[in-house]
Amino acid sequence: MTEIKSLIDLIGNTPLVQVKTFDTGDCNLFLKMENMNPGSSIKDRVALKIIEDAEKSGELNKNSTIVEATAGNTGLGIALIARLKGYKAKVVILDKMNENKVFHLQALGAEVFKARSDVGPDSKEHYVNVAKRICAETPNSYMAGQFTNPSNPSAHELTTGPEIYKQLGGKVDAVVCGVGTGGTISGLGKYFEKKSPHTEMILADPKGSIVKDKVEKNIIKDADYSWLVEGIGEDFIPDTLEIKYIKKAYEISNEEAFKTIKILALNEGILAGSSSGTLISAALKYCKEQKEPKNVVTFVCDNGEKYLNTAYNNIWLKEKNLI
Ligand code: PMP
Repeated sequence: MTEIKSLIDLIGNTPLVQVKTFDTGDCNLFLKMENMNPGSSIKDRVALKIIEDAEKSGELNKNSTIVEATAGNTGLGIALIARLKGYKAKVVILDKMNENKVFHLQALGAEVFKARSDVGPDSKEHYVNVAKRICAETPNSYMAGQFTNPSNPSAHELTTGPEIYKQLGGKVDAVVCGVGTGGTISGLGKYFEKKSPHTEMILADPKGSIVKDKVEKNIIKDADYSWLVEGIGEDFIPDTLEIKYIKKAYEISNEEAFKTIKILALNEGILAGSSSGTLISAALKYCKEQKEPKNVVTFVCDNGEKYLNTAYNNIWLKEKNLI
């Protein structure tokens, strides 16, 4: 058994669980349980790779402050690893994200700044631009830069992809991902293109996000910011997203996403975060459309405990017209 010396050694190697109660047609649908990472999301892998690559290149030294713009989970991964390795963390989070993520970040010692969710990438107030400003104003700082940093997709190419391939004995027909930075879908696309070229990368995009239209029509429209799931859906095309790997795209409404995680918890006992509702809804559509049996993989991207006060709270769901 590998010796566990630190929480860092617990990042990755997450289990794959087969869905039992949903109608998946002739397909098998598997969930990669990324909620079981120590920071409770898929972004721990990315935070670790970004920090370790920056250590190797000499961009981080022992008094560095790591700065990042985040929907929450990358910030949590960075805050956790920064704590373990002795760096400081400053995190800019979108103001529409669950307040529990802010408390979690603060509990891990990160300095948290909130930025507006309803402004486009050209605005000074856009969270990525706010993080850039904070980085420029902070001495000895390092911008993790998940939207541009190649370490982000490469974390998935080097760890998530090989794990999935091994767990399914090489029989992986499709992987369904959302896009926040595009790191997951692009890193996995690159891995499977070499290792298993028939494997299809499928996009699950929240309604209102711009990624599906870019994939299908090569147009960039304005985002309408109406999606309520956290961590996926975009108002710009990040450098880390390689559209060429995406074979097919599904648009998923708020109603479908929140209903799916509710059923997942009730029937399979898995308390997933809200983005997983979008991914699993799209994966189920893809499964039902297939004419032959396939192994399809998607993700429990993060833990539902962060969203107990929203996604699993009937008062909030009613307020948002979701029940
Ligand atoms: N789900 C959740 C909950 C996330 O926080 C993120 C990252 N923002 C994603 C999915 C999307 O991953 P990626 O950045 O690799 O596109």
